[in-house]
Amino acid sequence: MKWFTHKAVAVAGALAVGAHVGALVAVLVGSVLPDMIDTAVAHGNKRVWRRIHRQTSHWFGWYVLLILLGLMLPLQEITADFLRMVNVSFPGISRRALSEALSNDLLVWLGIGGLVHVLLDALTPMRVPLFPFGGSRRFGISLVSTGSWQEYAFLILAVGAIAMQFRQARSVFETVLHALF
Ligand SMILES: [Zn+2]
Repeated sequence: MKWFTHKAVAVAGALAVGAHVGALVAVLVGSVLPDMIDTAVAHGNKRVWRRIHRQTSHWFGWYVLLILLGLMLPLQEITADFLRMVNVSFPGISRRALSEALSNDLLVWLGIGGLVHVLLDALTPMRVPLFPFGGSRRFGISLVSTGSWQEYAFLILAVGAIAMQFRQARSVFETVLHALF
């Protein structure tokens, strides 16, 4: 899948569930993170790229782990303690607000973005690894080749489906509001 597809699907999904701005940025970074890791590791070397691309970085477990860590760790307190320790402050922003902004759910959204990336790559002929380190077992379905017209059709369908969800969610919300007031 192209980076654009990864980003569009992840951000559209996050928007549909009403994610805040910080979460949108986190999901955007997460949605290209697996490929960014491969690019960084290969460092322009085509041979290395061919060997490592869509291997360890594309194991779904890492991103599930990020989500779980984000849900379990008291990151807001850890961040607040860290900011106090290094005595960092920014004019106009309280440490409390800053640690809240950098809190748990950013890690969760980063993980969701990464997971969306891996699941989308699982829809291409190359698929994704079943195990984190080596092994030839891969899983997925060969639905769309990267850059093919099928990818664009998939992109339109996926984003369209998410947009429909958004509208439906909003109309449900409006119905509830009307019922209440
Ligand atoms: Zn990828």
